[in-house]
Amino acid sequence: MSDCIFCKIINKNVPTEFIYEDDKIVIFRDINPKASTHLLILPKKHIVSVKDLEDDDRDVVSDLLFRARDIAREKNLSGYKLVFNVGRDGGQIIDHLHMHLLSDTKMQEV
Ligand code: AMP
Ligand code: ZN
Repeated sequence: MSDCIFCKIINKNVPTEFIYEDDKIVIFRDINPKASTHLLILPKKHIVSVKDLEDDDRDVVSDLLFRARDIAREKNLSGYKLVFNVGRDGGQIIDHLHMHLLSDTKMQEV
């Protein structure tokens, strides 16, 4: 989607430091953090929201969760929240599926 800010970030048209990248997933810091660690974990595939997931996207959801587990382990986060805002009435501002990882664990800020 040419007008999607997260697609622009994924395609490196908007310079953003990636915490993690592979062929399916990127992770970067939220520009307006709500916790000492606030990461966004998103698929490279443009999916608008949880509401728009199709049955074929099961692997996408799985990848997001397992990648969250891995980055939290890597950064020694002892506890965290994983949040999807869904639709405008659910607080979603950016229409590209993303999961927030929020942690106030003081051991290591990511
Ligand atoms: P949501 O309300 O779930 O759609 O969350 C979108 C999040 O994206 C917000 O927490 C914003 O602070 C964050 N955000 C918006 N633009 C950028 C950007 N260019 N880089 C990093 N985070 C962003
Ligand atoms: Zn997008």
